[in-house]
Formats: sequence, C-alpha cells, structure tokens
Amino acid sequence: MAIADRMVPERIVIVGAGHASAQLCESLRKGGHTGSITLVGEETWLPYQRPPLSKAYLLGDFERERLFVKPHSFYADADIDLRLGIRVDAIDRDARTIALSNGTRLPYDALALLTGARVRRLDCPGAGLPGVHYVRGIDDIDALMPAVDTARNAVVIGGGYIGLEAAAVLRKRGLAVTLLHRSPRLLSRVASVETAQFIEGIHREEGVDIRLGTTLRSIEGAGRVQKVEIERVAADHVAGDTAEEIPADLVVAGIGVLPNQSLASDAGLPTEDGIAVDAQCRTPDPAIYAAGDVAWHPHGQWGELRLESVQNALDQAKACAAAMLGDPAPYDAMPWFWSDQYDVKLQSAGLPSGYDRAIWRAGDKARGGSCWLYRDDRLLCVEAANDPRAYMTGKRWIEAGQTPDPATIGNTDIALKEMPVL
Ligand code: NAP
Repeated sequence: MAIADRMVPERIVIVGAGHASAQLCESLRKGGHTGSITLVGEETWLPYQRPPLSKAYLLGDFERERLFVKPHSFYADADIDLRLGIRVDAIDRDARTIALSNGTRLPYDALALLTGARVRRLDCPGAGLPGVHYVRGIDDIDALMPAVDTARNAVVIGGGYIGLEAAAVLRKRGLAVTLLHRSPRLLSRVASVETAQFIEGIHREEGVDIRLGTTLRSIEGAGRVQKVEIERVAADHVAGDTAEEIPADLVVAGIGVLPNQSLASDAGLPTEDGIAVDAQCRTPDPAIYAAGDVAWHPHGQWGELRLESVQNALDQAKACAAAMLGDPAPYDAMPWFWSDQYDVKLQSAGLPSGYDRAIWRAGDKARGGSCWLYRDDRLLCVEAANDPRAYMTGKRWIEAGQTPDPATIGNTDIALKEMPVL
C-alpha cells in the first residue's frame, strides 16, 4: 500500500467508543489534526476502561465515574463530536459515508473501525433464563451486582481471565463457586500450563470447585436459574455421556469474545479473525483503518494475530493516529497483560504461544513467583505472580532481545540484576 495513496484527512470518523477510541482522539489532536473528529458509539457511555469491571467494580470498590477514560470536558475541549447511543449499520466505501441507526449518513475522509469484540454467548438449553449473566460492559456488571447480593450458589463457565476474576470476586462475596472449564487446564488461550496450574492452586485454596474438561449441558429452573446440568468433554471438546446436576442460582459466563468485523466484511474489506490491517493499522482501502481488539495485524515477533488487551488498544490507537496524519510508524509493541485474583497480581510480558521450556523461579512474596518461557533457548515470555521485579526485568529483556541463561534463571541465589544474559 503506497503512502501516497493516502491524503491527510480533514473529516475523521471513529466507529466504536472503547479504550482505543479515547486514545485515538487524544493522539489525533496531539498530533496536530485540526479537522473534525466524530466518535460514534453504540453504548450511551463515554469510552470506559474494561479491566476494573471484572475486578474492583464488580466487587463494589470502584466508582463508576472512575471507569471513564476521559471526562466529558476532554471531548468538549478537544472539539470531538460525540454521537453516543447510535449504531453504524453500513459503510458506503464509494461515497465515503456511513449509515447510522438514526437514519442519517455521515461523510468521512478517514474512517477508524475500533469496533472491539462482543461476548460469545451460551447456546445450551436454558441459556436465556434470568440469572444467566455475562461480563463485558458497564450494563452487564450493573445487572450482575444485585444478583450477586442475593445469590448463594454460583456456577462460572470458562476459566479464562474473565471467569477466574469473576470467581475470585464471587468467593470474596461469600458465594459457593463452581467453575467449569472445557479444556483440561485453565487459561488455555492466554497463559502457560505452569502458570495455569499455579492459578488453579490459588483458586482451589480459596474454595472454588474447579471442574476441568467440563461444560454445561443445560441450565434449568422455573422462571429463573435453579440448577445446571454439567458434562465431561473429551480433549477435542466432544461431549461425553456423564452428566451431573449442580444447584445454582447464578450463572456467570466468560467463554471468550468474537471480533465485531461485520461492518468491514459487509463492505468488502478483508477479514480473518478480525479486520485485516497492516502494521500501521491500514486496511487496503486508503481511507479505512482498524485498531484494538478487532484488528488482525502482523507482529514482527509473533506473526499475524489479534490481541485482546488494553496495551494493544492504546498502542495501536497511537499507530493509527500516526498513519492517519501521514507519519506512519509500524506497530510492534511488546504485548503485556495483567490480572488481579484475590491477593495475587499476575503480570505477563510477551506471549506464551509456542514455548518449549518453562522454568519456575520462586518469588519472595506469598503466593509469588515467576514462570520463564523459552523457545529454542530464547526468552519468549515471562509470567509473574506477585513479583513485579521479575515482570519488569523480563519485559525489558524481551524488548531488548536478551535472554537470561535458562540454566540459571531458576536459581534464586542469583539476583535478577546479576543474572547472565545471552
Ligand atoms: P478467553 O480467554 O477466551 O477464555 C474463555 C475460556 O472459556 C476459554 O479458554 C474456553 O476454553 C472456555 N470455554 C469456552 N466455551 C466454554 C464452554 N461452553 N464451557 C466451558 N468452558 C468454555 O476469554 P475470557 O476469559 O472470556 O475473556 C474475554 C476477554 O476479556 C478477552 O478479550 C480477555 O483478554 C479480556 N480480559 C482480559 C483480562 C486481562 O488481561 N487481565 C481480564 C479479563 C478479561 P477453550 O480454551 O477450551 O476453548
């Protein structure tokens, strides 16, 4: 794609009002964009942070006002035209307009599709019963919180970050919690086996009844959830024939997300598991960009992928702004994540995919330690529990292309700052 095909745009329209959108507004103005910026969001909320939703906000320890990435005054001062509570129904690429759910059309010179992802929904019998909840947006949590107040027996479906963070909050609130996870180990998409086993141990200590290799067969109840029927699944996710009933008055599902890419695919733009963009967030249409959870993009170290993280949303929004303003810089940031469960802060840098060696290094705090993942003796990822020094050091090494000697990284007699690196 030749940069020359792309003119610095006058009218920029952003679709989606998540974390990436707030960052894009800020980066465009900081980058000197003086033309119009219109932000169209389907929810009525200003762009907000999602990470506290499954943690402190669900626990009731985090005020709603603090969720918003920027206050209302930021958008007013930056002259951002906010169109909230409005869905974008279609893109007309020839006319360079989008059709809005209020019946109007909006012209653009550059269009940023920051449409994020939506939760995958349960499809078993009874999935629509009152008492079945999801964890994605403010409205989901506002509906879930009063249900937590009155429930006693919760069943959590999915052992990814959402399911585990929700399970931790529900246990803190005193509910009995059973967690079903389809794979034979937790965090199957996002962490190493070793870290997943460490996290599993924490949840079992806290009293969560974890059922691995298990899923829901049905949800039952007269007018609302009263019990669930669960079944074992084989490694290939084929359902088994052993079923068991568990009493439940609350079901919380965290079974992954799906990218909101239909606007792009309906407009003839290429999609994979997300909207396909280059390292500058550009689609093949010189006027259309995508970033954040929805963007299927190339990464120097990890190949083509879609990342679901705040770090990716913010860094790609900056790369998107730079590309729109004619000063593109390839997005190649180090992926990092964190999760809070009980008194454990889990932080990871790099990605755990494709490792062939994992070395555990004990930490000096309770429930602490770090897992160092290597491929061909090169450091690929560090996952640290209650060990910010291991996280920071590992992140720096991976960014610099340095590798601590796998023969010594597990030896706590050698401080990290004295560790030989290759
Ligand atoms: P996730 O990482 O995809 O985990 C969902 C898990 O649910 C999968 O591992 C999947 O197992 C399992 N599952 C799917 N269907 C199931 C079923 N019918 N029965 C039992 N288990 C089932 O997604 P998530 O935890 O829902 O998180 C959603 C999004 O929020 C992601 O974008 C995530 O990154 C983000 N998030 C991030 C953080 C963080 O960074 N700290 C915290 C919270 C949420 P299989 O692996 O076997 O398919």
